[in-house]
Amino acid sequence: MDPNKVLCHNPDCPARGKKGRGNIRVHSLKQRRYICNVCGKTFTESQGTVFYRLRYPAEFVTQMITLLAYACPIAAIVAAFGIDERTVASWQRRAGLHCQKVHEHLVQQPRDLGQVQADEIRVKHQGGIVWMAMALCVSTRLWLGGVVSACRDGNLITRLIQQVRRCALCRPLLFCTDGFKGYASAIQNVFRTPIFTGKLGRPQLRMWDNICIVQVVKEYSSKRVVGVIRRITQGTQKQVQLLLHKTQNTAQAHVAYIERLNGTFRSRIVALIRRGRCLLRQSETLQQAMYLVGTVYNFCAPHRSLRKVLYLADNSKHWIPCTPAMASGITDHIWTVQELLSYQVPLPPWEPPKHRGRPSKRIKELTNQWVT
Ligand SMILES: [Zn+2]
Repeated sequence: MDPNKVLCHNPDCPARGKKGRGNIRVHSLKQRRYICNVCGKTFTESQGTVFYRLRYPAEFVTQMITLLAYACPIAAIVAAFGIDERTVASWQRRAGLHCQKVHEHLVQQPRDLGQVQADEIRVKHQGGIVWMAMALCVSTRLWLGGVVSACRDGNLITRLIQQVRRCALCRPLLFCTDGFKGYASAIQNVFRTPIFTGKLGRPQLRMWDNICIVQVVKEYSSKRVVGVIRRITQGTQKQVQLLLHKTQNTAQAHVAYIERLNGTFRSRIVALIRRGRCLLRQSETLQQAMYLVGTVYNFCAPHRSLRKVLYLADNSKHWIPCTPAMASGITDHIWTVQELLSYQVPLPPWEPPKHRGRPSKRIKELTNQWVT
């Protein structure tokens, strides 16, 4: 047990979410519990992870969730291991919600994206169709997030672009999308910053500079692609060529990377397999499965095109595997699925209680020690 690797989960604790600051010590080796010196609360080792209050061992649950993240049907796990299907479904739900928190905490941080490709998948479920829109950073192959909705409309695209905005620094950025009309207006609405002038009223919103949008529309004949039309909806040809040159090998705009990612998701989420019989009942299940597969893809699965070559002394090649999260600088190693499921997402920093008058000496001390 290492107190420097855990953090306090008490929402009322001033030291909440702080790791390695000396406020945590071991409370019980037998029960594997820690205690926080600041708030005096004890908590178990697995709090904040997928394994909190589960009766099955963590290694076993990890194996089952790994199977689920690689498209093993729940019915197969039930038949092979004799576990109740509701238990397996609850693990999948827990893992999906946990991965969503990890994704929002680690991936949705501002970074220079260069080029983003976005696309939607049509998903058949029991009683209808839902749409799953996703976005990818081309240079690092990082999955930036996805949204599930009953309609393929402007609201779906706006929610997706808002996720991309959380991942983006204000740098030149190229969007390559399909021909859906909603993209241009959604990008123009979301990528704006308020300009505060000190006057009363809502500040004026100014769009980010150097945002380019290219829409790639394929022409089909007898279900075969016979031509591709590229429309520059925003930006100049020169800006687009510069960003394409910076982020990919070819000079033509395309959406091949996000379509390849769609293929990965289709092969790893059993409900997305075409003409399959494992249809979903609820769109929440699809969202949870999407976050599980997307986070495993980002952190745990080495990407072949990201690997780096190392020349040894005898001039032979040694390939170093790399994941999208490593290429983006989020981590320095390939995570195991257990590491991902055990990652404790810290709570946002504590805020002193609001009341009239000057804050007390004790509150000032706590704020100085733990918030600043
Ligand atoms: Zn505490």
